[in-house]
Amino acid sequence: MSKFYITTAIPFVNAKPHIGFALEIIQTDALARYYRLFGRDVRFLTGSDENALKNVQTAEKEGIPTAELVARNAKFFADMHDYLSLSNDDFIRTSSEQRHRRGAEKLWTACFNNGDIYKKRYQGLYCLGCEKFYVPEELVGGKCPDHDIVPEMIEEENYIFRLSKYQEQLERLIESDTYKIVPKTRKNEVMAFIRSGLQDFSVSRPAQRAKGWGIPVPGDPSQVIYVWFDALSNYINALGYADEGDLYKKYWVECPERVHVTGKDIIRFHAVYWPAMLMSAKVPLPHRLLTHGFINIDDQKISKSLGNVIDPEAITKRYGTDQLRYFLLSEISTTGDGDFSYVRLEQRINSDLANDYGNLASRIFKMMDNYCGGLVPEAGNPGSSDDELLSSSTGLGLKVKDLVEKFDLNEAIVQTMDLVKLTNRYVESNAPWKLFKEGNQERINLVLYNAAEALRIASILLSPVMPGKCRELLLRLGVEEKDITLAKASEWGLLKAGQKISAGEPLFPRIEKNIGISNTEVRIQKKAGKMEETKPGLADSVQPTADSIKPVEELIDIDCFKKVKLRTAEIIAAEKVPNADKLLRLQVKLGEETRQVLAGIAQWYTPESLVGQQVVIVANLKPAKIRGLESHGMLLAAQDKDGVVILNPQRKVETGGEVR
Ligand SMILES: [Zn+2]
Repeated sequence: MSKFYITTAIPFVNAKPHIGFALEIIQTDALARYYRLFGRDVRFLTGSDENALKNVQTAEKEGIPTAELVARNAKFFADMHDYLSLSNDDFIRTSSEQRHRRGAEKLWTACFNNGDIYKKRYQGLYCLGCEKFYVPEELVGGKCPDHDIVPEMIEEENYIFRLSKYQEQLERLIESDTYKIVPKTRKNEVMAFIRSGLQDFSVSRPAQRAKGWGIPVPGDPSQVIYVWFDALSNYINALGYADEGDLYKKYWVECPERVHVTGKDIIRFHAVYWPAMLMSAKVPLPHRLLTHGFINIDDQKISKSLGNVIDPEAITKRYGTDQLRYFLLSEISTTGDGDFSYVRLEQRINSDLANDYGNLASRIFKMMDNYCGGLVPEAGNPGSSDDELLSSSTGLGLKVKDLVEKFDLNEAIVQTMDLVKLTNRYVESNAPWKLFKEGNQERINLVLYNAAEALRIASILLSPVMPGKCRELLLRLGVEEKDITLAKASEWGLLKAGQKISAGEPLFPRIEKNIGISNTEVRIQKKAGKMEETKPGLADSVQPTADSIKPVEELIDIDCFKKVKLRTAEIIAAEKVPNADKLLRLQVKLGEETRQVLAGIAQWYTPESLVGQQVVIVANLKPAKIRGLESHGMLLAAQDKDGVVILNPQRKVETGGEVR
């Protein structure tokens, strides 16, 4: 089986994991799972970066030994394995493991023996937060752009790596995609950086300043290896580079695909320093570097030093692991930046998972129960009206493979969810409940079999994204574990007729109301210093004054209320109104009647997410013209500090009925 090796960057362990790193490790896990689905022999590594000087300071502040601090914090990262459903094969710790220390020493010695490490007095502006030297032009107002602190001027004797020697080789390596950087915009940035002229860089620190923490320079215990030099070597050390053992040969030297996943902020280390170190040590280079962007909250970068950190574990507890995985992989651009919001998280769970995917499964199971005795029916020959579903289903696997190989997880999910939507429409238009009234059992069998096959295929292809729920659904359909593969997802007709299905509880319960912590709360938590004296929800309010005391609301009697006719309706079509960024044009069905309603909710809903939703409208409102378009009725919606949500009945109802 062809090998595939994939790694995440190893995070500093000076705080708990935040949502930005959860994105990286979930992306990497999904890739590992997809490649396994494709039949590859995958090895997936993550770990923790523990030799930073920052840890020494934090431990001093807490009054505990540094080793104790990093062991405690490394556990927070190792714990992600369970609550994020990760499938990593290994987890490496850089401060406590001999395989890492010996590997880092070996890499250093190889570079040193090749004449690429020399000693020099070095002076520069050093940010302790980043653990790197800055040139004055890189600072913003004299401060580190990431940490907003003034870097220290440090002068010391260091070992220096001869990066400049590799200028041309690196240029060729990246330009030719021999080491391919994805996406292309990041490749261009790296090329520009290399072409601007590479400077030799410092790869050690005085042991005294490091207070003895870190890996001593081989042959010179007065210095420790620079944390980045040691950290990068984890990728080969975990495989046993120190002894060049079997794993190292299989998953590095002879492996046809060695892939790193990392954030855009540390791309230079991975795209420039790391391959140069490997060239110097005569170690094979990685093949690809996949880079993702940042998750923002309120358009601000998440960072430990800004204090606006969202805890991924808390989200999985509230919403579920697969729900968070799905949200991060589908909502956040795979290679660009994205915005995290609880409102969008809840909308995505309700529209994509509860309505589209979960509801399709429930319907199929329920109808198989009602019309086929709870068994997968025997299907006859498909007719031309089944063609689209069949060809879309069997062709999807290869499309998804192609997209995943291009590191376009977003589109792979979109295309798979398109099959889910198509299957919903197929069930809708074939209406097995009508066929049942007509007594057309043969056609019922065919339609339900086809729908279940499409669901099987979509579920296999979504399983790297939502490993828990998809596996559960497949087992309920009677699919065996060994048949969850790309090959089986590309074949039609594998569900066995007569197989018992088990409907079970809905896989994705709807989130009925906003149960999330609002972004406003996050904003309040961000003002860390104020936390003790302000209560969430009150911090932004003003002190009551005479002006702010509200008058008592005017009361109405029941007859007055009865004049307002509220009715249930279903949105059957939705589109944006050109040149109006807030307006959506909706076609809604109230019983037999269809009418057009304009609603100012474009900021909160995409047109596609609305179709099929049941709503409440004010039915007897005088028709009005908005932007030249007639609006006949008004949609009921709730608004709070997080935005606007439309009101849905708790369960599907017959539309047109009066709401009282
Ligand atoms: Zn900094």
